[in-house]
Amino acid sequence: MIIRRRGTAAAAIALLCTTTFAATATPATAAPGAPPGVSPDVTVAAGELALVRLQLPDTGMLDTLAARGADIAAQGRTPDGTLVADLVLTGTELGSLVARGAKPLQLIQREGDAARRYAQSRQVAAKAAAADTLKFLSAYWWATDGQTFLETRVATTAVSDPNVEITVTWQTADGTTGSFPLQRFEDAGEYQYHVAEPQPLPAQPVRVSATSSLGGTTRPVTPGAWPGATPPAPPSGYQKDFIDAYQAPMDIRARIARLARQYPDLVDVVDLPTRTQGYRRTATAYLGDPASAAVVVESVRFGDQGPNGWQVRAVDPGRPNRPAQASFRDRVLTVSLATDATSAVVSTTDQVAALIGARFPQRFTAFVEDGSAGKVMPVAGPTRMTDGLDAPAGVPHKPWTVQALRIGEHRDGSRMGVLAYSQEHAREWATPLVTLEFAERLLANHATDPETRSLLSQVEVFVIPTVNPDGANYSFNDAAFQRKNMSNHCTGALRDPRNADAWGVDVNRNYTVGSLFDGYVGGSANCLSGTYSGTAELSEAESNNVVALAAAHPNVKFAMNVHSYGGYFMWPPGAYAMPGRITLPRPSIEESTLFQASAKRIVGAISAGRGTVTWPARTGPVADVLYSAAGNSADQLYYELGIFAWDFEIGNDRWNPATSQWEGVGFQPPFPEAHAESQEYADGLTELLRVARDYAGQ
Ligand SMILES: [Zn+2]
Repeated sequence: MIIRRRGTAAAAIALLCTTTFAATATPATAAPGAPPGVSPDVTVAAGELALVRLQLPDTGMLDTLAARGADIAAQGRTPDGTLVADLVLTGTELGSLVARGAKPLQLIQREGDAARRYAQSRQVAAKAAAADTLKFLSAYWWATDGQTFLETRVATTAVSDPNVEITVTWQTADGTTGSFPLQRFEDAGEYQYHVAEPQPLPAQPVRVSATSSLGGTTRPVTPGAWPGATPPAPPSGYQKDFIDAYQAPMDIRARIARLARQYPDLVDVVDLPTRTQGYRRTATAYLGDPASAAVVVESVRFGDQGPNGWQVRAVDPGRPNRPAQASFRDRVLTVSLATDATSAVVSTTDQVAALIGARFPQRFTAFVEDGSAGKVMPVAGPTRMTDGLDAPAGVPHKPWTVQALRIGEHRDGSRMGVLAYSQEHAREWATPLVTLEFAERLLANHATDPETRSLLSQVEVFVIPTVNPDGANYSFNDAAFQRKNMSNHCTGALRDPRNADAWGVDVNRNYTVGSLFDGYVGGSANCLSGTYSGTAELSEAESNNVVALAAAHPNVKFAMNVHSYGGYFMWPPGAYAMPGRITLPRPSIEESTLFQASAKRIVGAISAGRGTVTWPARTGPVADVLYSAAGNSADQLYYELGIFAWDFEIGNDRWNPATSQWEGVGFQPPFPEAHAESQEYADGLTELLRVARDYAGQ
């Protein structure tokens, strides 16, 4: 017989799986595409196994097949009585049956199909599993100077794949479309979202969608209008524009005094309790040549307290077997070097440094210049000692009393308090212009503008124009990019005067909440770092003063910390700890809503001036939109004192239509730009007063 089984086990399984055709099953449905009554072209190679549906000429053939153990997968009759069977057979066996009257109806499956279908199924499943899920975190548009912008943030679930590419496609009302790529934004090695700078569009987008290179897609969304809030326009006659130049600390001090004289019924000057170190440094001199062998001599007292102008020298006694000696006479420190029997100098740099410190501990310290250790001390000097400070004579060096303006009709703590403070960072020259303009407007318009009068009857305003006047003096006179204060906590060779522009404490990393000392990220223990956190929490006068003012006035419920630049509007949490990027506690839903809703109002007020729009992606918690800033003051005010505490980074990037690029403005832009920043951000602070008034009235 032509039909054979290829193994009894397989045959048994095939028989177990044998089913009976349902009465309604027809060859036509089983062999789609084959014309009724016409056999499809069923071709099976001689040795190939296949599963074939056959029309059998009679039941006798079926009985014979069954009796001989044929692999009959299914059998039955169609409604018209045709006898049909599905058989697993070789091409040779098929040919034999056809020769005996069987008719192939359908080639159901070749044996070789199985492995290919298995692999295909795995590929499809893998592709489906690899596709990411995308979600719009935000999609906003706005228009400035006739130019429309779109900004979107999209999150992918493929957070660990750095190569995911996300493309946003937009469409305007007239059907114009376009697309642009987003960039992956990571912070502390952790994926945040994909974002791009605001993109110029020809018109308002009515629809945006996003796709990813992994196959993820979003549903189309309608971008919202940002910020979607505009304050009432000031009445005609409203006075502004009180800033005509950059303001150094002496200018600010004078202006505070002038305002107090000019508006005695509306303003008090508050002297903050901790005087600063002052714009001062110890005096230093290199004794010797730093390039070969030298000792750094440093005065114990500040240069302005006497040591500026002292001289230091190292002399050869010119006689044999002399011991090293040091004397200080007529403001000259003289080191007579030791000699041997041949009158050669044998004092080393280390010995000279130790001798100076031991001989005059009240006047001098000394250390060996980097690279000079163990070298023979050269004959040198006299060299003048200097504190290296370049400010003209009118700039005082003494400890500075930081001042605040206290403004309002009722300066007794009975009204909602709002604190605005600026220039924690010395080089941010435009920031005091904002707070001074804000204060001036309140005072100047009180007599004539009902809205200003209403505000000053309902809120009490505290303004610290310059938190860090010492650093500011250094920035104006010595090193423009000075960020920190004037405290030098470096020790040893780090006190080399070549590091002078890197000394100081970052005031906005010196507070107590989420600090470096608590293990949070974004402050440095390196005294030369731009974010040096100091020797301890609140080690600095400047930070103590901000805390003292806020703590002494529990009516203060809102605060704005004004920085530059970049165009950010931020609030807590401002720090996180690693590993895990664990942020300070998130505000409650209610408070987050207040932060966000108030931010939109204030961003709207800022934009009213010259169309400066703070980007949605730069509006949010510090830790989300910028970085971690361990020990910053806004976190201090919020978590310790329950104050809604924001940060401005004024100085938004400007759109250059000629290059189609956003351009940064920097810390000390040409004055017209700084002036414009002072005007628009004073508008923002005024809106903050309205936010506070509305909050108080709830
Ligand atoms: Zn800053």
